[in-house]
Amino acid sequence: MKNTAQTEPFLVIGNWKMNGTRELLHKFACDLETTAPAGCTQVLCLPSVIIPNAVDALADHNIEIGGQNCSSHPSGAFTGEVSSTMLVEAGAKWVIVGHSERRTGFSETDEEVNSKADAAITGGLVPIICVGECSADREDGRHLDVILDQLAASTPSNLQLGEAVIAYEPVWAIGSGKSASEDQVREAHDAIAAWLKENLVPLPVLYGGSVKPDSAADLAAIRNVDGFLVGGASLDPASFKGIGTVSSETLSKAQR
Ligand code: PEP
Repeated sequence: MKNTAQTEPFLVIGNWKMNGTRELLHKFACDLETTAPAGCTQVLCLPSVIIPNAVDALADHNIEIGGQNCSSHPSGAFTGEVSSTMLVEAGAKWVIVGHSERRTGFSETDEEVNSKADAAITGGLVPIICVGECSADREDGRHLDVILDQLAASTPSNLQLGEAVIAYEPVWAIGSGKSASEDQVREAHDAIAAWLKENLVPLPVLYGGSVKPDSAADLAAIRNVDGFLVGGASLDPASFKGIGTVSSETLSKAQR
């Protein structure tokens, strides 16, 4: 259970991955309240080409917009890449870096993730730096070592308070429909929070991996869970809204 005063908003961040149309943005604009659930900040991380559409469609809503990846370079001969300043110009405030789908599908290393986080901050974005073990790491009992090694190598050493967010996403829980157990989440989040406090600065730590409205209450109540990174459920306005509402209710009841 949480037992400290909650001062920072609880982050509910959707990752649409390579999904999303103007029609879906319109549906979100129609179905979501214009104000965020109490105590929550809502963010949608979108394919970069629809960010300007999202900014227009959701102009009356209390929803911030992010990208899903950015180049580690500010500009130049990098065909197909998008820089952090381009994302800012398009209307983004956030960007996901080091999502497991990019680490595995595009062979992104910790060092690249670190450079991307640095470039994001320089360009004016808040990077959401993802870490998380695969199922073999957990079966071998080395999940905490893997998570903390990734964290150490993927976070710029000069990070300041408020400049970034960490997302703990066990790879085996992403898109599987089965989120990590409360004990597994507690163990990982406590370890990440302790590492950050000792080695860097305290940063919010999100949990990601099959979060749904019906699992959000129990997960939001866990100490050191400061928000969620939500994939599949963020494509449905009712589910995205539900996760925020349930989290807000949990936070108001918890002794934080
Ligand atoms: C994600 O893609 O970051 C994610 C957590 O996906 P899902 O919620 O679908 O597991």
